Amino acid sequence: MKAIIIGAGIGGLTTAIALQQQGIDYEIYDAVPECRAVGAGIMLGGNAMTVYERLGVGEAIRNVSIFPENIFVSNYKGKVLQQVSNAYIRQRYGQGAHMIHRATLQQLLLQAVTKEVHWGKNFQRLEHHSHGVVAYFEDGSTATADLLIGADGIRSVVREKYVVPAEYRYSGQTCWRAIIPMKLSHEEQMNATEVWGNGNGLRASYMQVDGDRVYFWFTKKMPAGKPFTDIDAIAFMKKELAAFSGKMQQVVAAIKPEMLLRADLYDFKPISTWYKHKVVLLGDACHATTPNLGQGASQAIEDALMLARCLKQETSIDAAFKKYQDGRIERVQKVVGISWQLAQLTNWKGLLATSVRDMIVRMVPNRITQQQMEFLYSLKW
Ligand SMILES: Cc1cc2nc3c(=O)[nH]c(=O)nc-3n(C[C@H](O)[C@H](O)[C@H](O)COP(=O)(O)OP(=O)(O)OC[C@H]3O[C@@H](n4cnc5c(N)ncnc54)[C@H](O)[C@@H]3O)c2cc1C
Repeated sequence: MKAIIIGAGIGGLTTAIALQQQGIDYEIYDAVPECRAVGAGIMLGGNAMTVYERLGVGEAIRNVSIFPENIFVSNYKGKVLQQVSNAYIRQRYGQGAHMIHRATLQQLLLQAVTKEVHWGKNFQRLEHHSHGVVAYFEDGSTATADLLIGADGIRSVVREKYVVPAEYRYSGQTCWRAIIPMKLSHEEQMNATEVWGNGNGLRASYMQVDGDRVYFWFTKKMPAGKPFTDIDAIAFMKKELAAFSGKMQQVVAAIKPEMLLRADLYDFKPISTWYKHKVVLLGDACHATTPNLGQGASQAIEDALMLARCLKQETSIDAAFKKYQDGRIERVQKVVGISWQLAQLTNWKGLLATSVRDMIVRMVPNRITQQQMEFLYSLKW
């Protein structure tokens, strides 16, 4: 059996490693001309770390990432609204969350992939044949295999043309991210904190992602595509974060225009079909989510292991795709739903509404937090 993987992002590369582990042949293609060290930071949830452990790359990732002992949500005055012990999650579920630079993760995954990635291959269309599929790329080249995996992200061409079109939803928030050369104190590194402002989507966070770099992110409610130069964006963030306590001011002061990455935060309404004929979707292509649970990539990573196992275990491609979809869809749709609700919660505005919101978050009973941890981090397959 041979698979074509479209997309060498976190989902596509992890799929390549998982297929290798199962002894399934593949070729992997990406539209960008070369592998570039782009992106900011990412939190790999304990569930993603469990998958990477099973795929044999867990230790390598742990060696170049940061493991915070606690993850907090606090308000801008420094009052803690929620605390999750990452150390407890590791003790209970085997792995906790790790903070890492995206480019570092991509390099590690590339090292574990035994085949060359075909860069500069912009997938355009495919044809089904009795023996499988033929993929056509913009440069006129083609590829043939038994099946095609669309790991081509939220704006997936594979999904739109060959599975089902998506209905995009704008969360109402835009996000700026930056990687800043900086070293936090040991205590700050151990206590990663997401800070909520007074509504309208205002949030910010910073965390160490390796020995000398800090990942910063900021969100705010505004129309998608609202024009900002990078210099204006920095001035805007400084103004919005002026009342935030602690080290936030120092971190924002260290941001340079060339460090900024902007993303308007979209997902799409859950789709109920992830495959058709010999084509299957994976990662953001089938379940893009707003980043409020820090689970988008982590779910793509889970997809990769489950799809590879199903392809190995089942006797037909159709049965494998069905088992994969059945095994994943309910969980992933729940993640997308919770993330969406969290985005809307942080969009509330006004002092009264945000005080009520903060109280609700503070009062979430331990039992509910426990259930959510069980749901996110225990991989029972
Ligand atoms: C601001 C922000 C913060 C986030 N933080 C986190 C976090 O902390 N933790 C977490 O788990 N997730 C996080 N996410 C989500 C995470 O980034 C995504 O879920 C993850 O990157 C999805 O991986 P993917 O491989 O499915 O898609 P992508 O990473 O989008 O990769 C798709 C790949 O396909 C290629 N491609 C696209 N079209 C074509 C084509 N036609 N032909 C060939 N190649 C093509 C692209 O070049 C790309 O390399 C965050 C997202 C955002 C926006």
